[in-house]
Amino acid sequence: MSQPQPGVWFCELCGEAVFSLGKPARCPACGAWPQLMVQPTAPPRVLARDQVYDPEVVSGAQRMIVQELDTSELYSRVQASATAPLLRVTFRSLQRIEGRHATLLCAIFKLKRPAPTLRPDLSALSDRELIELIRPREDETIVMYQQEIAKVPGTELATVYQALIDIEQDHNALSARLLGMFS
Ligand SMILES: [Zn+2]
Repeated sequence: MSQPQPGVWFCELCGEAVFSLGKPARCPACGAWPQLMVQPTAPPRVLARDQVYDPEVVSGAQRMIVQELDTSELYSRVQASATAPLLRVTFRSLQRIEGRHATLLCAIFKLKRPAPTLRPDLSALSDRELIELIRPREDETIVMYQQEIAKVPGTELATVYQALIDIEQDHNALSARLLGMFS
């Protein structure tokens, strides 16, 4: 078997360029799964950009941007309240990824990034209680994306939304592992 070759990989979901020894397991910026990591052709292109969308699709996207920003803010609060260092670095990573999702949706729909609504302090919660906040939140986001996919079946935008669902499912799998470690 040949050795993996170092090279630049391109994320078709968010546009990140990644220098890596072999195909990355996930996009480090947005968490996209490897089927969306490609070796750049010239020029590389990101999914679902430079298209015109129906107002109903745009308003759905606006709701998703708010949802992603609010989830990023939730992870920021959770990160600030967690006592275990592993949880703090984990939640900071999730905070960045959800923020990246808002950024890529703003780019697709050419929308200004709204200011996030700040959430209350969570420091009264235990580490375990903080981890338990993840799954309901991610499940809610997944259902919202499924509703948006139903408006645009078979399109690149549907591929984008499905890729975002896959990433949120990663977060649920991570929360299940963390619950096992902090029980
Ligand atoms: Zn990406």
